[in-house]
Amino acid sequence: MVSRVIPVDEFDLVIFGGTGDLARRKILPGLFRRFLAGQMTEGSRIVGAARSDLDNAGYRQMIRDAIAEFGGAEKDDAGLDGFIDRLHYVAIDATGEGGWSALSDLVRKDVVKAFYFSVAPSLFGALAERLHTHGIADADSRIVVEKPFGRDLASAKALNDTLATHFSERQIYRIDHYLGKETVQNLMAVRFGNVLFEPLWNSHYVDHIQITVAETVGVGGRGTYYDTSGAMRDMVQNHLMQLLCLIAMEPPSVFGADEVRDEKLKVIRALQPVETHHIVRGQYDATDDAASYRTDVENPRSFTESFVAMKVNISNWRWADTPFYLRTGKKMKGRASEIAVVFKDLGHSIFEGDTARHRNILAIRLQPNEGMDLQVTIKEPGPGGMRLIDVPLDMTFADALGEDSEPATDAYERLIMDVIRGNQTLFMRGDEVEAAWAWTDPIIQGWEARNDVPKLYDQGSAGPEDAMMLMHRDSRRWRDIKS
Ligand code: NAD
Repeated sequence: MVSRVIPVDEFDLVIFGGTGDLARRKILPGLFRRFLAGQMTEGSRIVGAARSDLDNAGYRQMIRDAIAEFGGAEKDDAGLDGFIDRLHYVAIDATGEGGWSALSDLVRKDVVKAFYFSVAPSLFGALAERLHTHGIADADSRIVVEKPFGRDLASAKALNDTLATHFSERQIYRIDHYLGKETVQNLMAVRFGNVLFEPLWNSHYVDHIQITVAETVGVGGRGTYYDTSGAMRDMVQNHLMQLLCLIAMEPPSVFGADEVRDEKLKVIRALQPVETHHIVRGQYDATDDAASYRTDVENPRSFTESFVAMKVNISNWRWADTPFYLRTGKKMKGRASEIAVVFKDLGHSIFEGDTARHRNILAIRLQPNEGMDLQVTIKEPGPGGMRLIDVPLDMTFADALGEDSEPATDAYERLIMDVIRGNQTLFMRGDEVEAAWAWTDPIIQGWEARNDVPKLYDQGSAGPEDAMMLMHRDSRRWRDIKS
């Protein structure tokens, strides 16, 4: 199946931090794939703007190298030359005056203008102000801001206020790349495009929901930053919360940016405060040949969590009796992001001797092998009576849709094209981010006030034993994380 690519309007995209890790690893290789797909309209340009003293030629070589390293499977030299020709560079000082008039001369007035803030959040205010005072951005320009969006409610509010000084909410695109994943959007298609699921999508039929984002990597080179953040701020407040919202929200009247975000906001506001004994924090321990979390972050007294698991309840009619269990961690036994909707047991079995617990489970895999499977109960083949077994109806997108299907599209490139189109549906609105912090803050403040010490867990495991107990206490268990 060949995917349909709809070209976007001609644009100038300025990437502040265009020489940084994120730009080289994700943003520019992603844009190259969109270029190869024919989505970057003739005349559209990408301007790298960063501190390094480079000219156009130097920047083009840097991005050539980055695409060779991170660009995926494409081997299209002619295409690469065409893409590289679209690149420009301006050396800029976000907090000073250097480079701004050159940027002003370069950016055109009569095309879509987008400014990607791929720099530390402490520079967002300076960039917004200078884009305004130098007359580079106008009322239709868009700005894209990266995570982290604050570290608590107060800092998120301050950041929203700073951006709002120069840009209206409809110009601000707060990225959560989980929302750009094909499967996440498919989750909405499955829920709201089929008659099968929505009638069952409530406490009457759903026993519980599990959301797991497990990583095998540790903190890598981000140790200093990560140790001031932890899994709760780095993963739960944004990514897991967004996934929970999409699962739990009421159907919006149309698939529009504000309609969807209004419904997500209602979910966040309906979250109950989490009781202390419903949260488990963990920190990975050393092994014979791998360092502990504390060694990785070079902080021997760190109390920061690299794992968190929690039971969350939503106070509304749809979900009052259905708990959501969330967990995320580093150095776990497998790399897996999955949402599992676990339906209730059959009330009564008509099959003699069938004492097993049969459950329908809809598992939505974000990675690896993006797709879904639905566990159903069928008759075990062969003679000998009615013995029942549970089998998955597997829909791996790459198998179902063929090699040309979109799942290969990275979340970043999809989201950037949405920015150019002016579609904010898959971006977080300011009030959503604040509501998520308002729910997260008391949890983190509680830990800090108690000097809470995370439980140690083995690298390559599924997290601390207490996380298993969180489920066992409710006579439930986590789904296996495949190693
Ligand atoms: P980085 O340190 O690799 O790059 C920073 C960039 O900012 C460089 O291009 C640098 O030249 C530029 N810069 C720094 N100070 C400047 C100044 N005063 N004026 C102009 N330019 C300046 O950072 P990164 O890893 O690319 O991260 C960028 C942003 O993206 C951060 O907010 C980070 O939290 C966020 N982010 C990064 C990742 C990732 O995987 N790297 C993932 C999610 C979010």
